[in-house]
Amino acid sequence: MHAGRRNSLVLMADSYGVQMKTLCLNDIFRARHTLVGRVLRTPMVYSPSLSKLAGVPVHLKMESHQITGSFKLRGASNAIARMVADKTPRGVVAASTGNHGRAVAYAARQYGLRAVICMSSLVPKNKVQAIGELGAEIRIIGNSQDEAQDEAQKLVDNDGLVMLPPFDHPDVIAGQGTLGLEILEQLPDVGSVCVPLSGGGLFSGIALALKSARCGIAAIGVTMENGCAMHASLLAGKPLQVDEVPTLADSLGGGIGLNNRYTFDMVREFCDHTVLVSESSIARGIAHMYWQEREIVEGAAAVGAAALMDGAVSRLALAGPVVLVVSGRNIDMARHRQILIESDPDS
Ligand SMILES: *Cc1c(COP(=O)(O)O)cnc(C)c1O
Repeated sequence: MHAGRRNSLVLMADSYGVQMKTLCLNDIFRARHTLVGRVLRTPMVYSPSLSKLAGVPVHLKMESHQITGSFKLRGASNAIARMVADKTPRGVVAASTGNHGRAVAYAARQYGLRAVICMSSLVPKNKVQAIGELGAEIRIIGNSQDEAQDEAQKLVDNDGLVMLPPFDHPDVIAGQGTLGLEILEQLPDVGSVCVPLSGGGLFSGIALALKSARCGIAAIGVTMENGCAMHASLLAGKPLQVDEVPTLADSLGGGIGLNNRYTFDMVREFCDHTVLVSESSIARGIAHMYWQEREIVEGAAAVGAAALMDGAVSRLALAGPVVLVVSGRNIDMARHRQILIESDPDS
């Protein structure tokens, strides 16, 4: 649907038409150097059951095993490292649906920085608690990511903290891109990659790495049917706001920012297809990951498995081997158990 027009390095214009150089493969290599010893190189595992189902080899990039339970640590650590190398800030602030906040809290502590995390009341309690335990200050504001964002901005304006955005920032995107380098090393003949898609930092980083290496690799953005701002924005050709609704894939909630500077253009550039999955498919994906792969993953991380179980490989004629990016494990365990109880262990 959104065929890549140009797979070389990206040069983008902001909304005022000013050309700015953004990211290239080199930035991702530099991020990797920065992240040595700070993040884990996560496993890539072959999935016999999904391979059988899809008719092509399927591998799982288990980023759910990352420190803090999601890939967000890569971007947050890289951004904080770059910030500190420049001039140590008074502290960092982030507005987060959970995993980014957790990553910022962890990374800030590694650098001895103050961290304040602002989040909406839709964020599950387990995530809020985990962030508090990492030593960050927490502010719960309103019912949407946007309100949390406004609060974070106030702390920048009034207290001189530095904002660390969850996706629309070059150092964050480069950090997430290190995951793409690992995919290339662990499975050099990768044909297609399915990446959970929300703000698009994860997708942009991975797709930049993979398509810089070999432009024939297909990059698929997978997201939930309900409330995906990036998908709506791609269709509209400009960043759009959508109503936030509760979803099992809570880490995929939130807007992309009406003044999006990086990820909208990069996703538009690199995304070969977007696939939408229903709430029942996400539940099936979570259950599959548990019963067949023996892994606990959160909804956002199960969308790839859900898409495959919905028949995405044959529908889109995806080339194998297919890599599913399993992006995080921070699910409320009571909810996880409920999903398993309602599921069929043999599916
Ligand atoms: C943040 C997140 C995503 C989406 O990443 P974006 O960069 O916003 O597209 C996917 N999965 C998990 C577990 C996340 O925490």
